[in-house]
Amino acid sequence: MAVVEELVVISLVSSLLACAGGGSSLPTGDPARPDVILVSIDSLRPDHLGSYGSARDPSPSPFLDELALKGQRFTEARTVSPWTLPSHVSMLSGQGPLEHGVVEDDRHIPADLPLIQAALQSSGFATGGFVSTIYVSDIYGFERGFDRFDDFDIQQKKNLQHTVRGEQVVDAAVEWAKGAGSKPVFLFVHLYDVHYPYLPPEPFNLRYDRAGTKKSQRYRSYEWTLKNLITPERWLHLLAQYDECINYADTQLQRLHTAWGSRPATWIVTADHGEEFGEHGGWGHAHTLYPEAMRVPLIVSGAGVPEAAVREDRVGVLDVSATIAALAKVPFKAEGVNVLGVVPPKRDQVFDTSRFDSARLGLLSGDQRLDLDFAAGTEALYDEAVDAGELTKIPGVDQALVARAWASVGDRWTASGPLITPGWIFADGSAREHTWSGPGPFALFPPDAPTSGAAQRGSPLPPVVNLSDETRKQLEALGYEQ
Ligand SMILES: [Zn+2]
Repeated sequence: MAVVEELVVISLVSSLLACAGGGSSLPTGDPARPDVILVSIDSLRPDHLGSYGSARDPSPSPFLDELALKGQRFTEARTVSPWTLPSHVSMLSGQGPLEHGVVEDDRHIPADLPLIQAALQSSGFATGGFVSTIYVSDIYGFERGFDRFDDFDIQQKKNLQHTVRGEQVVDAAVEWAKGAGSKPVFLFVHLYDVHYPYLPPEPFNLRYDRAGTKKSQRYRSYEWTLKNLITPERWLHLLAQYDECINYADTQLQRLHTAWGSRPATWIVTADHGEEFGEHGGWGHAHTLYPEAMRVPLIVSGAGVPEAAVREDRVGVLDVSATIAALAKVPFKAEGVNVLGVVPPKRDQVFDTSRFDSARLGLLSGDQRLDLDFAAGTEALYDEAVDAGELTKIPGVDQALVARAWASVGDRWTASGPLITPGWIFADGSAREHTWSGPGPFALFPPDAPTSGAAQRGSPLPPVVNLSDETRKQLEALGYEQ
């Protein structure tokens, strides 16, 4: 009897070592209804992946490179907002930030905002969400529509110290999927490992450079990096660490893929935003709408993907939920489109970041990218056909283009009566000098909006999240708070 028990123990240990999430494998699955696996890698720039042209040798992303090779890789994908909360709400709702309104730390996902996981859940999918930052946690309502949602109690942990690792996220996801039974699975995995201050675990921390030190890895704030020189040597070191983090995340996703085995699944891999590495003076994200902050990878691969291809269509985070709905054959209304279908050529894209000292509204129309910077009170125009990095402003700004940018806002936000807000309101192109009174903290109003009276919106303002002092401290520790 004792021998039998010992054999059982040995067998269990072997299985634990062999497979993410431990023991037995996943159920077989149904080829007629493949699973959908959505992966969001926080702060991942596409140009740091081998398949998108990274010169790093060996590639930080062998698994994702292979996935891209077998599927469709989109080279012109962008997000709608350069920070985590609004971008993920857009990813799962298919609505832009100006529509869903979850653009401040204390705004909750509106109860009536359709979310793709809820649509799949009511269509017979088993739905699981596994996330690793406070901004995608249940305090904002991301758990709605998931049978199982795990944010690993991230509110109680030091988020920026990467206490929730990709390994933990993948293990939990696999363990859950094993019990999903005969239903097709929708799995949402959010990895935080690539987010600053870039702390790759051993042995990844030595892959491209020396190990980081507390000093070299310290992230102060975006503002700090604008005012203080980061030496070329330190940039190189930070970039090496960033790529090591990508390599770690890639390895975890490889484990997830291996655990899935031959069970049919479609993978969608993207990011909520990119990362600035000094191209316009700053390090980090959330403050500008330049390409290094807005470009994201988008790879769709696996079951139901018609053919391998490199696509230059103008797509992005806004299109993720519509694509999932099409793959799962589930009705879902979204602003975005199915990227596997016909995408309107060079369609307009609207970008927003209305927080902090830099509140900006952006419009990409044709090859022209308009940037309205309300804090600075400036308008800028870039021609992406000749200046993909948006490094040189072109003289003169077409006011028709400005009007189009505002049209994307104007039918959603109007104002009349006194306005008070703890955020920024820019009714006349200026900012901060004004104290307004109004019902909510949202920042953006058309320049021709009346500056007195009650602010109104086409739909009600998103409900308020009552953040505890502890949570606010946690958000400050993320380096987002100024
Ligand atoms: Zn993020």
